[in-house]
Amino acid sequence: MTEKQNMYERPVEILQRLIRFNTTNPPGNEAACVGYIRDLLNEAGIESTLLAKDPNRPNLIARLQGEGKVPPLLLYGHVDVVTTENQPWQHPPFEGELIDGYVWGRGALDMKGGVAMMVAAFLRANAEGLRPPGDVMLAIVADEEAGGDFGAKFLVEEHPDLFKGVKYAIGEFGGFTLQIGRKRLYPIMISEKQICTIKATVRGPGGHGSMPVKGGAMARLSRLLKALDENDLPVHITPPARMMVEAMASELGGIQGVILSQLTNPALTGAIIKTLGERGRTFYPLFHNTVSPTILQGSTKINVIPSEASVELDGRLLPGFKPEDMMRELRAIVGGDVQLDLVQFEPGPAEPDMSLFDTLGGILKEADPQGTPIPLLLSGVTDGRFFSQLGIQTYGYLPMTLPEEFNFASVIHAADERVPAAAIEFGAQAIYKALQRFG
Ligand SMILES: [Zn+2]
Repeated sequence: MTEKQNMYERPVEILQRLIRFNTTNPPGNEAACVGYIRDLLNEAGIESTLLAKDPNRPNLIARLQGEGKVPPLLLYGHVDVVTTENQPWQHPPFEGELIDGYVWGRGALDMKGGVAMMVAAFLRANAEGLRPPGDVMLAIVADEEAGGDFGAKFLVEEHPDLFKGVKYAIGEFGGFTLQIGRKRLYPIMISEKQICTIKATVRGPGGHGSMPVKGGAMARLSRLLKALDENDLPVHITPPARMMVEAMASELGGIQGVILSQLTNPALTGAIIKTLGERGRTFYPLFHNTVSPTILQGSTKINVIPSEASVELDGRLLPGFKPEDMMRELRAIVGGDVQLDLVQFEPGPAEPDMSLFDTLGGILKEADPQGTPIPLLLSGVTDGRFFSQLGIQTYGYLPMTLPEEFNFASVIHAADERVPAAAIEFGAQAIYKALQRFG
């Protein structure tokens, strides 16, 4: 038996190997990392296909045959990672060291850990001759962290036929322990917000910097920014946000539960978010279309008063909403003399299809009887938005039991990203069960 033949039993080792490929995006350079996964599959006798827009940035597709009783299940994960620049790491970010039960390195959580679980479960299904209820597809993709042009977006736009018949997928973000007080929740992502970037432009008299202008473009821009700061876009209670909050509220119970459950009463949403203080910040985007002003443009010369000034708004739409909704809601705040242009819209999933939720949640409940799975609406985006264009429902499900003292949010995309090795074993096991049961 060669060394690689039982790698399916060693997801932690797979993760360590994946971390050692520096796939910082940009530039990504995912080829060697994807090649390693391809070799693992090859050694196990599984054929795979590479599809690339750029040969240095391939995506891998493999398939296991199932009984054909239900539509295929897609497992997808990205192997690119975000930068480590200017971050003080205690252990080197690309060595995948195993220290005191933790695997250290960039991507340990986001999401080479998840990829290791998926690859291990996929190899195991093959090694054990599992006949899953439907085909299982594995897609290892590039470029998630910088927009997906070379990864999921490319696959969905250029090779949609590959995913014919797929209805459900497992991807990031979710499945980990979220400790609230003494309760252990396991959020499973069922929907995400949508990118809707807007440019707002104001105009006024320009001129020489030595001859001041009152009420010009810059003054208008400042009024525009102030209006955005002082006003909220309206509250909307969407089905995924309602499901999420109701599940949280019922699990937490008591006064906390009562307060949370009132978030879905639109007359009280705003007040409850304020009452929750800092924690309210995580709920705010789940009930509003939002804009964050990020890039300003005025004059490019110190002595030229601009006749035009603009701000780019990182806009995020709730599921089911369209850019025209954002425009209407913004217009009500900024007034009539601001020009609003849509820069980019990336539609995401609309209504979640919850058919697989109980199966996936049940696996977590079995593995951690004290935990409770809850649906999650993500305020950010994942590659799930691209697959949703093909009618595929993603569940963010990278199961990890995390110890109470481990602060997931503080190490993701940050220094000292690491993951308990036991959490990776837990996830590989859970995903394998999902492969057995998704019918
Ligand atoms: Zn990720």
